[in-house]
Amino acid sequence: MNTHVPPENSTFYIVDFDRTLADSDKLLGVFIEVVNQYIDLPMKKVHQIDADVKAKGDSFDTATFVRDELAAQSRASEWDKLQQQFIHESRSLNMLLPGAAALLEFLDGRGDRYGILTYGNPLWQHLKLSASGFNRVKRIVTTNKHKGVLISTWQQRSGVFALPSELGGGVAARVVLIDDKAASFDGFPGEPSCGYQVLDYAAALPAQLGRVPRNVVHVTRLEELIDLL
Ligand SMILES: [Mg+2]
Repeated sequence: MNTHVPPENSTFYIVDFDRTLADSDKLLGVFIEVVNQYIDLPMKKVHQIDADVKAKGDSFDTATFVRDELAAQSRASEWDKLQQQFIHESRSLNMLLPGAAALLEFLDGRGDRYGILTYGNPLWQHLKLSASGFNRVKRIVTTNKHKGVLISTWQQRSGVFALPSELGGGVAARVVLIDDKAASFDGFPGEPSCGYQVLDYAAALPAQLGRVPRNVVHVTRLEELIDLL
């Protein structure tokens, strides 16, 4: 592994997807609308999805449920069509949260390295990433909600971070994690790395709240964050 010491200031930005860059409620709403054109989604399931989102984050595996439901009705071949329709309909809408496009443009403009680190079921996460137009952004889908723990495994004894190939590889002296959920920062490395919890407390879900490490700064919206980077 290449662990040569990178420049002091080399930073890799790790950006969360759901509720940081993308409007996850809107994505789920459009998905359910599309699904309803194919199968009768039982209201009990819709309520379970909603309760899971509020309590635990977007954890109900909606996509797999629908794919399996089609398969159970011997209509597995319709899954591709449903996915394409969801992506098509989503792309005619803006699925990004305010400031999301500006943040990525800002990082691109500065020539910074960044990637998306998203928690959830891979099938559903990749589908939402495509629907939001992030096909070309480097990303990792993890089933570990404690992203800080995962990120800390990239840190070498010298202190530098050996970045996974999915994020472009190479090394960074520090990482910056941008995420709405407190639990994402569990186990996050100490300084000079740092985090920004982007969360509007007035509209927060229980799943987003909790203690964060000392090197994590709270901001209410992405526009404020850009001024701090
Ligand atoms: Mg999130």
